[in-house]
Amino acid sequence: MSEQLNPFKIAQAQLDEAAKLLGLDAGTHAALREPLRELHVSIPVKMDNGQVKVFKGFRVQYNDARGPCKGGIRFHPEETVDTVRALSAWMTWKCAVVDIPLGGGKGGVICNPKEMSHSELERLSRGYMRQVSRIVGIDKDCPAPDVYTTPQIMAWMLDEFETIYQRHEPGMITGKPIAVGGSLGRNDATARGGVYCVREAAKALGIDPSKATYAIQGFGNAGQYAATLMKEVLGSGNLLAASDSRGGVYSEKGINPHDLVKYKLETGKVEGFPGTKPISNEDLLELNVDVLFPSALENVITTKNADKIKAKISAELANGPTTPDADETLYKKGCFVIPDFLCNAGGVTVSYFEMVQNAYNHFWELDEVYKKLDLKMTKAFNDVHAMSKKHKVHMRKAAYLVAVQRVAEAMKLRGWV
Ligand code: GLU
Repeated sequence: MSEQLNPFKIAQAQLDEAAKLLGLDAGTHAALREPLRELHVSIPVKMDNGQVKVFKGFRVQYNDARGPCKGGIRFHPEETVDTVRALSAWMTWKCAVVDIPLGGGKGGVICNPKEMSHSELERLSRGYMRQVSRIVGIDKDCPAPDVYTTPQIMAWMLDEFETIYQRHEPGMITGKPIAVGGSLGRNDATARGGVYCVREAAKALGIDPSKATYAIQGFGNAGQYAATLMKEVLGSGNLLAASDSRGGVYSEKGINPHDLVKYKLETGKVEGFPGTKPISNEDLLELNVDVLFPSALENVITTKNADKIKAKISAELANGPTTPDADETLYKKGCFVIPDFLCNAGGVTVSYFEMVQNAYNHFWELDEVYKKLDLKMTKAFNDVHAMSKKHKVHMRKAAYLVAVQRVAEAMKLRGWV
């Protein structure tokens, strides 16, 4: 039988495993297998050529037993409702694993922002917010950036929402620019949280992070910051390779991460970075490095390549990069996976800090954000690691056990199940 690659089916299968191990009752299990609500929208947008194009979009509210739904909005040409469903489930587990009082949601629009002008993108962002404004808000569901959405897009969406409701409500969306109520430290929070997890994993495995080599698959926001933060936070040795959707670069001597980020921002690609050789995305994943950061999209580590992965630690900054079968292979091989909804939870954690600061209308210094983020990530890592040792399961299963238990408890207390 060929491997299941539908992300929502994967998310359900992962939950099923956890439900079995936890001995979850059938009702709670069934309630956790499906999103509570979803909204499907059509967004007519006047394009620059005068014609109207209609875009399809979604907002899925998976579970809000622990608090208002929370999760980003993706703008992607290959977006599907099942991907958004899976991502909203993973947001539910993510908020639970770092123990913030929020549920899980996710949004998506099928579009290709790389082919749209600035003003077309603004009209699409405002159009999406007009459609979902009826179900989002500070105490209902709070969106944020994700793949191909930016702080600027959050600012347009905030403005549209506030224009509709005729009041200020900055905490209804996070990942905003600082000038309209964003939090310091939100821009690199996903990567920083992941690097804190790598530090803890290295401790557990007896690896000296200052000597660690690493490679980054996916050189977007999270990947770029991971490249520089590995050096800044952990003093890590060598970035050997990085790739984006157009291709990758490799150097056995190591790549200066700051220079590579500068080059990427100037040229829009990593390809052709001086002093490096080209490498494909596939070959990069199989490099012999201490830490691999899958930081792009879903399903890049599958049964096709799992047995060829040589990294000691796979730090998943992307959502859903590893399939369940590949997970088993990596576990047997001794590759320590820091699962996505733990590894990349730094983003939503600082989003939560942003909501708190918006509620108080009082903003924290950067060092306070870092300190609070470190506490949350370290505690979450240790909770999951302890669970993995207790049940002798890999870190993803352990993360599910921690998260599902917390969400199930809230549902029970509310009398839903
Ligand atoms: N999109 C990010 C994620 O997948 C951040 C979500 C948020 O900040 O709400 O975790």
